[in-house]
Amino acid sequence: MLAGHYSVSYLLKKADSKIKLWQLFLAVQWLDVVWSLFILLGIEKADTQHPLPASPIHLTYMPYTHGFLTSLLWSGIAYAVYKAVYSGKGNRKSALIIAAAVFSHWLLDLIVHDHDLPMLGNQYKVGFGVYHSIFWSLFIEFGLLLTGMLIYMRSMKNQETSPSKYGMGLVFAALFLFNMISIWGPHPPNEKVVAIFNLCYYIGFTWIIYILERHKAKPNIFP
Ligand SMILES: [Zn+2]
Repeated sequence: MLAGHYSVSYLLKKADSKIKLWQLFLAVQWLDVVWSLFILLGIEKADTQHPLPASPIHLTYMPYTHGFLTSLLWSGIAYAVYKAVYSGKGNRKSALIIAAAVFSHWLLDLIVHDHDLPMLGNQYKVGFGVYHSIFWSLFIEFGLLLTGMLIYMRSMKNQETSPSKYGMGLVFAALFLFNMISIWGPHPPNEKVVAIFNLCYYIGFTWIIYILERHKAKPNIFP
């Protein structure tokens, strides 16, 4: 899953306004950020020779980033790091929300992945396999994303800290475009190309959200 993960960012931002949306954008994709690095380093394995209809890559070995137990471990690390970096009142709740965001990645991957998420070590692989259908993959990803984004935008309405809705609209369009490219774009020659593409995607969208949050929408001076 690509864009659908960000639905959780929008919903959790609504649950705790102290957390920055860019932090949640990074947290929900953290397992894939590490996966990209591990693919580039040769620690985890994948191949592009046996793609699924809605995914250009076949994930063969990823126990360190997408195992059930290791995902929980990454989630615990995120909790500890957030708590250590952002000390102050209420940071425990925010750290728990960041940890939930990190683990949400595994739960949403479970819906679309095809029996490649190991429960223990590299064994007992699970995944409901929605990637076998382009229609249902896109329906679920963008249904989730649109719902999360609309709930978030409604809750931020008339707030001074609200990012521009035009900016958010463009983010939605760009996310949609990248999902299309991953399905119908040129077939990647190898897994390292996919890892580099994904890394640029995750860091790029986190950075765009960071910029949008810094340039808040102007408050309405005519209430
Ligand atoms: Zn993933």
